[in-house]
Amino acid sequence: MNREPVRHIGPEELAEQGRFAALVQAHHSRPRSYHIVTYGCQMNAHDSETLAGTLSGMGIANAPRREEADLVLFNTCCIRDNAERKALGNITWLKEIKKKRPHMLIGVCGCMMQQRGMAETVLKQYPFVDIAFGTGSLYRLPEYLYLAVEEKRRVIDVSREESTIAEGLPVLRESPFKAYINIMFGCNNYCAYCIVPYVRGRERSRRADDILREAEALVADGVQEITLLGQNVNSYGNDTGEIPFAQLLRRLEATGIPRLRFMTSHPKDLSNELIEEYARNRALAPHLHLPVQSGSDNILAAMNRRYDVRTYLDRVDRLRAARPDIGLTTDLIVAFPGETEEDFQQSMALVERVRYDSAFTFIYSARTGTKAAGLPGQVAPDVASERIERLIAVQEGITREVLHSLRGQRMGILVEGASARRQSQMTGKCGRNISVNFTGGHEGLVGRIVPVHITGAGSNTLRGEYIKEEETT
Ligand code: SF4
Repeated sequence: MNREPVRHIGPEELAEQGRFAALVQAHHSRPRSYHIVTYGCQMNAHDSETLAGTLSGMGIANAPRREEADLVLFNTCCIRDNAERKALGNITWLKEIKKKRPHMLIGVCGCMMQQRGMAETVLKQYPFVDIAFGTGSLYRLPEYLYLAVEEKRRVIDVSREESTIAEGLPVLRESPFKAYINIMFGCNNYCAYCIVPYVRGRERSRRADDILREAEALVADGVQEITLLGQNVNSYGNDTGEIPFAQLLRRLEATGIPRLRFMTSHPKDLSNELIEEYARNRALAPHLHLPVQSGSDNILAAMNRRYDVRTYLDRVDRLRAARPDIGLTTDLIVAFPGETEEDFQQSMALVERVRYDSAFTFIYSARTGTKAAGLPGQVAPDVASERIERLIAVQEGITREVLHSLRGQRMGILVEGASARRQSQMTGKCGRNISVNFTGGHEGLVGRIVPVHITGAGSNTLRGEYIKEEETT
């Protein structure tokens, strides 16, 4: 495991980046527009908001289409070999556009660049890429642009600096009323199938006061929902010894944020304090994404998940006792090496027992560089496909039943806009993170949490009617 000390990026370094930003801004051949292509999880989506904030602060405007932008940044993901191939294919596609627009700058960043050897690969095999850097060097984008624009240099930063925390970077949010806050970075868990600990470094938590300041600013800006992000938020604070995650949630509630979510949550680190917090914290949305991955103890052990089915179910039961309206969602991997039909049946039984609102289901695919990639007992593709179809069918049936059981309830909906399918209806998300399309609303409700009476359910959305007379959060 990488044990380099956490490095907080100081004000001098940020000021230096500010000077690079000013130099780029004053340059006659600076990029006038940017386009960011984002792959992967919410953490990457939030990193892209930070990249966008940095670029717009330099007077560079967003271009809706990548082929028209002067600067295209690919913020990559490497969680699956497929994701990597897709990103590399899209980067190569842009090579042809660049032939016609030679001033175009192409940058690659994100998790893919943190992998050993990847920077060298880009250097040799993708000569049209001008800038490449990893997740820990995001704050240095102005400097990279300066070197590319002023010195006409290719900037391939292979330093693999990953144990950094940079505070106060500008963020251009996708939504005016929803926001992400990174509370920690990295992961110490080394699940056998996962590349994240190798590319995002070891766990490092931000200081609680920095997080609270950011949350307070968001609340003052009218944000209604904050999602806290980290690869394993339940172990927030373990590295700093400051405050544990449940206490952080309590302090965030005091900011007045109407709705608080978080992800991702490792079942082994789900503490009693956090379960109790669900019972008392009014800001905490009644939803938890709790990835189980398998319903078989043998497979969980092979995955190095460090909990068993009994422990998982016990935590589920206690969560539901603390917060009866909580909706649970999960991730499940089918056909992990060595998975027998019996193991798979145990996953099916667990899904039936927990009755998730929904589940992300994946067929295991070997990720180069992980422990599981070398495990014996790879499951044949046809068996894997047949298993995942059975699992999806069962979960779809449960989702339908859960959604139908919510009819008649009154829910607070954070309104996002007009429904894409029926413009006369509005759409938004309830606390359980389920989409709700409702009648009786109007554009003036966008960005507000309003009461809706749930009248019906589809296969994965709810229907409802706006309750005009008693608006509430
Ligand atoms: S907890 Fe496991 S699956 Fe999640 S990021 Fe860490 S190693 Fe990957």
